[in-house]
Amino acid sequence: MRARYPGCARADTPYADISDEDFGRWSWQLKNRITDIDALNQVLDLTDRERDGFRATQPLFRFGCTPYYALLANRADPECPIRRQIVPSVAEATVHIGQRQDPLGEMPREVVPNLIHRYPDRVLLFATDRCPVYCRFCTRRRIVGHAEQQTPRALLSEAFEYIRAHPEVKEAIISGGDALMMGDHQIDAVLAALRSIDHLDIIRIATRMPVTCPMRVTPALVDIIRRYGPVYVMTHFNHPHEVTREAADACGRLVDAGVVVYNQSVLLRGINDDVETFRRLNRSLVHNRVTPYYIHQCDLAEGIEHFRTPIARGLDIIDGLRGHMSGLAVPQLCVDVPGGLGKVTLVPDWVVGRTAHTTTLRTYTGDVADYPEPVESPDDDAA
Ligand code: SF4
Repeated sequence: MRARYPGCARADTPYADISDEDFGRWSWQLKNRITDIDALNQVLDLTDRERDGFRATQPLFRFGCTPYYALLANRADPECPIRRQIVPSVAEATVHIGQRQDPLGEMPREVVPNLIHRYPDRVLLFATDRCPVYCRFCTRRRIVGHAEQQTPRALLSEAFEYIRAHPEVKEAIISGGDALMMGDHQIDAVLAALRSIDHLDIIRIATRMPVTCPMRVTPALVDIIRRYGPVYVMTHFNHPHEVTREAADACGRLVDAGVVVYNQSVLLRGINDDVETFRRLNRSLVHNRVTPYYIHQCDLAEGIEHFRTPIARGLDIIDGLRGHMSGLAVPQLCVDVPGGLGKVTLVPDWVVGRTAHTTTLRTYTGDVADYPEPVESPDDDAA
């Protein structure tokens, strides 16, 4: 029998004597979530600086982490890429000019409580404010983790009625918080309500559970999601160390059931802002049948300046992926324009010149070549 949870170093932690069976239950992971500094210090040897970060951010953004995800972090290294996503930093307490509580301009587009209608044919439903892990770079910290509760049924009904009354809405994204913090019955009810709306075509579920609590993706949950297809699961791996055997198996269970799984990473300074990390991450995702969809430039949310990277860094990463590895493993670099103006995708400068007759292109090897335009242009037809 293969060893379970090989990436989770449980020796010399409070979890050393927990059975694999308990450790592998999502209910156990959530019930035993690490929520304070003393519990975290039993798993990670916190530095004085990290302790200061804990104190500085306590009133600002909730701390919480599953034992599973905390045990993936390096116990001794404060620069560990997983640890930096979990442990609060003193820098979070500083708000820089231009940073906003609501960087994506969602509040003015909240058409009924917990429902954002920002794009013509899509809506975003906040079904819960809870997450298994509170990521320190979270863009929605203004609403995430405050009450730690599911959106009340009456408010969800109001959201469903809005969608029903707006035939232009073709797609609903169930988010939060983490959509899979809802129990199976609640997810079933939300999916059933959405699927009963004739004009709604696609349902997306936004979740970090495959990354931070893969045991949540049980066969029973997969069966519920499968029944309401087409459902797309949008998950969020940021670093190759997160693609453990359990995480890969969780994604595999979804894909085997016909659910399409996409990954959205956030570009994070000192965590994944280099070509090699994204090559390893995306190769590993594609190997596990997860499609890399977006690399998000960090939003201008308050308290996350220390995670931000220059846009040029993201472009360099795309330059280092395109052509060097399978196109299946090359996501789009995406900037959510501040103020809720929508997403823009960026590519490196592959067009290096243009005349009426020729477009000059730079290839991934650095070679430059002309691509001739058609002899007869569509404009000639019009004339
Ligand atoms: S899982 Fe998503 S919503 Fe929750 S804290 Fe992380 S980034 Fe924010």
